[in-house]
Order: sequence, then C-alpha cells, then structure tokens
Amino acid sequence: MLAVKLLQDQGIELTGITFETPFFGPESARKAATELGIPLRVVNIGASHLEMLRSPRYGYGRHMNPCIDCHALMVQTAGHIMEAEGFDFLCTGEVVGQRPMSQRRDALVSVDKLSGYPGYILRPLSAGLLPVTIPERQGKVDRQRLLRISGRSRKQQMALAVHYGIHDYPSPAGGCLLTNPGFAARLRELFSTQEKIDLRDVELLKHGRHLRLPQGRRLVVGRIHADNVRLRDLARPEDIIIKVNEVPGPTALLRGGASAAEVEIAAAVVAAYSDAVTGTEASIAVSTDQTTRSMTVVVRPKEEYREMLI
Ligand code: SF4
Repeated sequence: MLAVKLLQDQGIELTGITFETPFFGPESARKAATELGIPLRVVNIGASHLEMLRSPRYGYGRHMNPCIDCHALMVQTAGHIMEAEGFDFLCTGEVVGQRPMSQRRDALVSVDKLSGYPGYILRPLSAGLLPVTIPERQGKVDRQRLLRISGRSRKQQMALAVHYGIHDYPSPAGGCLLTNPGFAARLRELFSTQEKIDLRDVELLKHGRHLRLPQGRRLVVGRIHADNVRLRDLARPEDIIIKVNEVPGPTALLRGGASAAEVEIAAAVVAAYSDAVTGTEASIAVSTDQTTRSMTVVVRPKEEYREMLI
C-alpha cells in the first residue's frame, strides 16, 4: 500500500496484481486495492506454484515456504502481463532486510534473475539502496522521491502509513499457510510418499485428520462439520466416502483404488472416531459415487489407530 502511495504521489497510474494458490488468497489485496482506489487483477498460479514447491531452486524457509522462488514466480507472472499488455514496469512493496529469507538484498537480486525481468522491478520503499532500475533510468520514476528503508523494524512504514492516512493494514507478521508448522509437516509427508500430487491433494490437507493406512493409502477423517461437508465436495468418483450409520460421527474420504482390506480398516477408524460405544458393533455406510453399501465393524478405541496419524 505504501509503495503504491509513493508512486501515486509521482502521478503514476497503477494496476494491482495479486495471486491465488491453495496456500494464500487475494482477500487482503482486495481490501488494499479498494482502499487505494486502484484496479486489481487476481491471478491463480496454483498449478505452477505447486510444481515449483516440490523443488524450489532457493530452498525452503523455516517450514515449507519457498519464499524466494515464490516471489520470483509472482513477479514472473506479473512480468508476462506487463509485456503482453504494455505496462512500463513492475513494483513491489518489498523492503531490504525485512524478512530473513525473501527480502535480504541478495534474495531480491535472486528474485529479479529468477523471474526473468531483472531491471524492471522497482521497490519504492528501498529503491535508494538498490541498483537503478530501467524505469528510473528512463525517467518514468523519480528516484529522488523514493525511499531508503531497510531492516526489520517497521517504524518508518508505520509513520508513513499515518502520513497517508492508512489505518487498516494486514498484520506485519503474517505468512501463508506454508509457514504453518502443522500444515508444513503434512505437506512434507505428502511429498515424500506420493509422486503425483495435484491441487486437490493439497486442498485435502487442509481438512480433518490424515491417516496413512498400513498398505500406504491415505484416509482423511473429518474433525468438524465443515470438514465433513468439504470432504464430500472434494471426493472424486473413484474415492470412497465412509460414515457411521445411526450415531453421530465423522465423514471420511478414502482415496480411490482401495482394497477390501483397506476399506475395512478405514471403516474401523471411522467407527472409532464416532459416538458409537467401544466394544459394540457399528453399522458403516461405504459409498462411491454410484452405490452405497453397509458393513459392520466392532468399535475399537481410537488410540489403537494413533500410529497411523500423519
Ligand atoms: S510466505 Fe508464502 S506467500 Fe509469502 S513469499 Fe513465502 S511462500 Fe510465498
């Protein structure tokens, strides 16, 4: 928001661009664009981001966050639009030294190179500390009116926000879902056990408990009502939906191609997480997109399945 304000002060017309993947969305950018009065493009980069995530050139941060490669992918995507539609340059709100991984001075240089648009990326908040960019050289931006902010303190940015009358801005500490330790552990496990991963697999990671059955197949068991609903939405025709009949309990999704033995274990797990009384028999509904059948299992304590939890 501050970078935009600095350029608007120079009479430069801007279009916002923000990105969407299963790990982060456009909500705060939407709010910011409305407040700034600029148009906003939302570009879904889920598939290319996932491909990059498997093996980022500059590695991961503390968890599964490949921040340098992630920034580079965003800048590259914006760069393609810049070229195709005749925009003059790109600008970001990055500040030298603000983040340990992605905003070190050398990391900014790496982002420039990796994106394929070195020289076209202006960082108005730190421009005075960085090499002169093409738009500055071309006189499209007055370098003298840009800033030299660096470091982790946000005092100068906060003072600038007051100057511009910006009171409502996102929390400075926020990272995306890839910086969440629990989610990162699940994703790491998915990468290490499954060769082909698509966006649906990643979406599933956000819901319920995940168990790896002895034969290696993944079972997702809803924790709350919203998980149960979402798991049904995310099920593909080849998947199996499992639910206890007659008593309250979770909905579970067993990934497609399961054997009879796997279905039986999955049904037992679902019964264990339901309100059915331990030691009694529970009736379980096992559904594909075509049929539903019932089977009976003896309810075991859920602790017996703990070692399958991912
Ligand atoms: S925190 Fe997430 S969204 Fe932000 S740069 Fe890192 S990986 Fe990308």
